[in-house]
Amino acid sequence: MKRAVFPGSFDPFTIGHYDIIQRAMPLFDEIVIAVGVNSQKKTLFDLDQRLQWLNKVFESNSKVRVDHFEGLTAHYCNKIDARYLIRGLRNASDFDYEKTISQLNSIVGKELETVFLIALPQYSHISSTIVREIIKGGGDASPFLPDTIQVNIN
Ligand code: ADP
Repeated sequence: MKRAVFPGSFDPFTIGHYDIIQRAMPLFDEIVIAVGVNSQKKTLFDLDQRLQWLNKVFESNSKVRVDHFEGLTAHYCNKIDARYLIRGLRNASDFDYEKTISQLNSIVGKELETVFLIALPQYSHISSTIVREIIKGGGDASPFLPDTIQVNIN
């Protein structure tokens, strides 16, 4: 069973993340989308909301499971017996950061391989950070979110 983990904050989950999952689907038997919980890091959306959205987006996809974890991603992968990590690369700064993390993960995690997918041009400008700024500013974030995710702007 080829099990992969797509870890992230997903604050919120965007169409850029969704595209990475869609493209990784043929490569693995199971993909676990795992929300990393860091109690020190303040998020715009709480864990329950982020998990609820992810479960809704992938409810009819039997290959995708949604979970959350605390601590090191590599330890979580070992615990659930996943040998692959999926990460998306949008630009050179993603690459620099991800390269180091991947090298560390292959030491900390047993036989853990990171598979990188390059963002499609139409999604490479999308980040959760930008989407949060739009939401905080009262703008319409729907062009950047899967149809099933609706953020109420008050
Ligand atoms: P983290 O907090 O771990 O950076 P994110 O939720 O921001 O988590 O992103 C999770 C993964 O998705 C990362 O590998 C990131 O590079 C990738 N990603 C984010 N946005 C996009 C996008 N628009 N296109 C492709 N990959 C993306």
